[in-house]
Amino acid sequence: MRIYSHPACLAHDTGPTHAERPERLSAVTNALHAAFPELAWHEAPRASRGQLLRAHAPSLLEQVLETRPRERLFLDPDTVLSPASAEAGLRAAGAVVAAVDAVLGGQTKRAFCAVRPPGHHATADVAMGFCLFNSIAVGTLHALAAHGLERVAIVDFDVHHGNGTQAIFEHDRRVLFASSHQLPLYPGTGTRDETGDGNIVNAPLPPDAGSALFRAAWTQRLLPAVDAFKPQLLMISAGFDAHRRDPLAQLQLDAADFAWLTSELVALARRHCGGRVVSTLEGGYDLTALAESSVAHVGALLA
Ligand SMILES: [Zn+2]
Repeated sequence: MRIYSHPACLAHDTGPTHAERPERLSAVTNALHAAFPELAWHEAPRASRGQLLRAHAPSLLEQVLETRPRERLFLDPDTVLSPASAEAGLRAAGAVVAAVDAVLGGQTKRAFCAVRPPGHHATADVAMGFCLFNSIAVGTLHALAAHGLERVAIVDFDVHHGNGTQAIFEHDRRVLFASSHQLPLYPGTGTRDETGDGNIVNAPLPPDAGSALFRAAWTQRLLPAVDAFKPQLLMISAGFDAHRRDPLAQLQLDAADFAWLTSELVALARRHCGGRVVSTLEGGYDLTALAESSVAHVGALLA
């Protein structure tokens, strides 16, 4: 088990009142250090231009990397580009690429990327929803292109639908995208009839769904789809904003639900791909919930 992170991810400055703030990442890294003192921490490299261009249009790279704002610049009402944001985005995507290399290179079975900004709302050409680069997509395309894999599954349990990830892969049958999320909620996509080329599986959940509906969605709909796909690598968009304490959503889960799903995913990875799992932090906006949930998630990855 490896953890990938970088101090540059703390310097992405979204302003004093923004939900996606540096303290989120500190809450996660402090909790992981306290709970698992033996974990191996690795510094995330920068994603290369070529790695980013597998998922993104040159225009998005230009916007994020070449704008070089002197103060905070809002790309949309939610999404901030600060002077340090380009470096944070490069390290967040680079963490997932390095984690993929380590897992597929046999250095470790599982890896968790403790990074920000999150990524799953970023489409090929639009930074949105707090996200600059779609790190899980960049890592997944690296696994396919640089390691020659033919089937990679991305599971996303962030409370928001991973619209960017879905859009990038909806016509790429090498990738299965399986997501649970609250609907209605930002960004508004993720209905059951969005199926891509048969490789997109959405399980929208109503507000106040709670543990039972969440677990039923995974047991009955999402996990069987991932199982049938027989992935050679399992990627996880791990957002913890479905927790009952989260201020941005109302799905009413507990840390135990994240531990349960992670254990199910590790078992699935053991059946199909030697237990190879790469997970990256997406959302989660209550610091207590983030600390508890990331410990629950990494604890289950360690098992
Ligand atoms: Zn989210």
